[in-house]
Amino acid sequence: MIRFDTVNKYFGDFHVLKNINLEINKGEVVVVIGPSGSGKSTMLRCINRLETITDGELTVNDLKVNDKKTDINQLRRNIGMVFQHFYLYPHKTVLENITTAPMKVLKQSKEEAEKVARYYLEKVGIPEKADSYPSQLSGGQQQRVAIARGLAMKPEIMLFDEPTSALDPEMIGEVLDVMKALAKEGMTMVVVTHEMGFAREVADRIIFMDHGQILEQGKPADFYANPKEERARLFLSRIL
Ligand code: ADP
Ligand code: MG
Repeated sequence: MIRFDTVNKYFGDFHVLKNINLEINKGEVVVVIGPSGSGKSTMLRCINRLETITDGELTVNDLKVNDKKTDINQLRRNIGMVFQHFYLYPHKTVLENITTAPMKVLKQSKEEAEKVARYYLEKVGIPEKADSYPSQLSGGQQQRVAIARGLAMKPEIMLFDEPTSALDPEMIGEVLDVMKALAKEGMTMVVVTHEMGFAREVADRIIFMDHGQILEQGKPADFYANPKEERARLFLSRIL
């Protein structure tokens, strides 16, 4: 579903992604870990072309992400993204936050979009917050709205970039639970997170990045118990 074939990316002279080769299958849950600055966010952002690659080939569903002929809106419609900071519209209600894109992009009627929005609010466990404003919600609730907003576009792929890093500890679990449920339903997910419990429970694969390279990958049980690369070992010893 997602394929990086010898992908490189530079920011000016800075070589941020180095010969990335990666294939992610439909329904797979891949967790990306690695030190700050190793290129995790950049790799994720290339998938929906928030960043452009310098060379190599990147395809999503056989669509060449960087081909001029590729309809970038069609690509992005199919890929939901959830960030560390939730980026909800502060002056819109929860319901409006979720219905805006489906009405505009998918041309859903207001009634239809609201029905879909309420379905996903129920799913993320906060149906009663439909008419609240983001500032009236906790961080964990805001992040669950952001996830519902992503899901309302009915994407085939969900990207998560450190979705729990900005949350107070007691709110991390409620967000991870929503993500676990999504993973178990078969969503294709790429998740940058250092939450090992989440990775162990639902990840099919862990990818360890360092200095713009994929240094090691493996099943969570193998990787956490016995990382092969010295830098992966060192990294795990610091975060665990
Ligand atoms: P990570 O998510 O693993 O912390 P990033 O992908 O955010 O890493 O960043 C990788 C490197 O690229 C960092 O050194 C960062 O400073 C640099 N970088 C990220 N975005 C830009 C940009 N827009 N312009 C220049 N350098 C950038
Ligand atoms: Mg990052």
